[in-house]
Amino acid sequence: MKILVCVGARPNFMKAAPLVKELKGLPETTVVLIHTGQHYDELMSDIFFADLELPRPDVYLGIGSASQAVQTARVLERFEDVLLKERPAAVVVVGDVNSTLACALATAKMEYPDGPDSYRGERPLLAHVEAGLRSFDRTMPEEINRLVTDALADLLFVTEESAIRNLRAEGIPDEKVHFVGNVMIDTLKAFSARAEASGIRAQLHLEEAEYALVTLHRPSSVDSPQVLGGLARTLVALAQHIPVVFPAHPRTLQRLETFGLKGQFCESSPGPVEGSMKSKPLLLSPLGYLDFLHLLKHARLVMTDSGGVQEETTVLGVPCLTLRENTERPVTVTHGTNKIVGRDPEVVLAEALQALSHPSKRGKAPPLWDGQAAQRIAAILVQALKERKDR
Ligand code: UDP
Repeated sequence: MKILVCVGARPNFMKAAPLVKELKGLPETTVVLIHTGQHYDELMSDIFFADLELPRPDVYLGIGSASQAVQTARVLERFEDVLLKERPAAVVVVGDVNSTLACALATAKMEYPDGPDSYRGERPLLAHVEAGLRSFDRTMPEEINRLVTDALADLLFVTEESAIRNLRAEGIPDEKVHFVGNVMIDTLKAFSARAEASGIRAQLHLEEAEYALVTLHRPSSVDSPQVLGGLARTLVALAQHIPVVFPAHPRTLQRLETFGLKGQFCESSPGPVEGSMKSKPLLLSPLGYLDFLHLLKHARLVMTDSGGVQEETTVLGVPCLTLRENTERPVTVTHGTNKIVGRDPEVVLAEALQALSHPSKRGKAPPLWDGQAAQRIAAILVQALKERKDR
């Protein structure tokens, strides 16, 4: 049974890695790894293949950067050719990026002129890993990707109970929905010891639990000079109290440059840091998974607009402030260490200072975030394919 696993952008690699490993280990499955090339350079793509021991992609679509519609359209067109050539029994998409939506749409609309006998010309089964998460904010491109992908999928693998409720409210039949845990946490657990061995904290002269780690990349945080300028001011003010380390997404680096905000930061590639870091936040290029996980594990405080980082801090028990108005991952607030604080610079600074002075709750791992999610997904997927074949 041939299974296509699709990845395209940074947060996909951590989610696909344990699945690829699990499916490759099964005697009845052949895995074909498709990389759309939505993220394509060393720091946003290649390093994760090395860090996470992902095999080289079997197919690389090379779509590159473009507007939302153009990027989606390019994947849609090129992925249809892959489906025609590969004729898989199933397609697995993960997360909520444009490649997720486009690969799902191409799969759902696939028509084989003369289908392989075993599947009687039916289109491949479509599985969505990390289904059902909803911010209820349709200005987020990811929310549109999540809604459409879930409407099309045959198997919906969910990470938390809120997702079951969301899918039910959208009329998705319960029998399609499987609560399996969180593949991103599978990866965190699998690579935790290796991340511990990273030398990044020593290189940056950061003491255990004596720094704040920041990531920002959502358009709503970084595309407006007012919003990004306000957040930059907050980070500068916070850096008077604790070293602030900011490995920035390429989009964010570009916006900081364009808006003339880079001068507020101290720039250095990982290496010895001058005394100036005590008063300016340290701006870095994006980090590889192992280095980033190392910094996450030992941070005193994390400030982010990332989806995945909210989940990782929950499991690590590290206080997290989410600089957004909402989260599609409410379990990170109810069970974990996450607090949603918005983007008002004064409020963010007050919350950060409060988090530094008052130890917050340690939180607990949400149900089934135990490192076994990929195993559960593989078992359900293989069973569904066998049942389809026997029909
Ligand atoms: N991450 C990383 N290096 C960085 C920043 C983040 O490896 O410099 C990892 C992080 O640990 C998590 C994933 O990237 O596993 C989250 O990706 P991102 O924030 O880009 O996407 P989102 O989760 O918001 O969809």
